[in-house]
Amino acid sequence: MPSWIDTHCHLDAAEFDADRSAVRERAHQAGVAHCVIPAVAAANFETVRDLAHAQGDHYALGIHPLYTPQATPEHLDQLDAALHANRDDPHLVAVGEIGLDGFVPSLNTPEAWAQQRWFYQAQLELAQRHQLPVILHVRRSADWLLQGLRKTRVTGGIAHAFNGSLQQAQTFITMGFKLGFGGALTYERALQLRRLATELPLSALVLETDAPDIPPHWLYATAEQRAGGTAQGRNEPAELPRIAQVLAALRGMSLSELAAVTTANARVALPRLQWKT
Ligand SMILES: [Zn+2]
Repeated sequence: MPSWIDTHCHLDAAEFDADRSAVRERAHQAGVAHCVIPAVAAANFETVRDLAHAQGDHYALGIHPLYTPQATPEHLDQLDAALHANRDDPHLVAVGEIGLDGFVPSLNTPEAWAQQRWFYQAQLELAQRHQLPVILHVRRSADWLLQGLRKTRVTGGIAHAFNGSLQQAQTFITMGFKLGFGGALTYERALQLRRLATELPLSALVLETDAPDIPPHWLYATAEQRAGGTAQGRNEPAELPRIAQVLAALRGMSLSELAAVTTANARVALPRLQWKT
């Protein structure tokens, strides 16, 4: 059976409180050998670390752009201290999830946007200082993210749930990044995303679920269905092989080859995945 790495799943999310270990076990059964669990705020640094240790998984520490309105400079000090304290921890693979969100209106007022950019840049500096790759949240923000990366060079990482242009993708690649693809490409109407996932060099791709978010089409409930009482399906890491199957079909390659290449790519993007845990 092919072995997979889910390079982005929020297993600490409240959606998994009731059955977290069953969710991880299902992922194991499906061949998902490793999950990378990114933090979103200083308040969950310990949670993601403990969870990754308990499950034999990996984690990243950072402040997500959606959490920057509540973030303070003190949280950055906590991040710095946590990166320092865990510098020899093979489970800690990146600074993340950090980035910029150009979509959510409340985060795009002049003050909120300035706050996002300040935390993004400060966290790039921490990644640089601690020599760790970064896991980036990209949402209508690719050019701004690239601008920040030109100012503060880091060792690369992953542009997660990538949905920018081919040119933006290529710029991330030349800056040492891999691009994360997941459930969004399972939708037939996602033409541009599917084209990207098909045309980009295979060496640039990593797989992710972003669970519990971004459900693949087979879990998605339409607005109409939701109005009729159907709950939105919860995404989980066990869905990764089926998402990968869609990508393998788009690229006309075997599932086992895709598993081998994307696993190797993830280890290039996040080198500590190669450390013995
Ligand atoms: Zn995320």
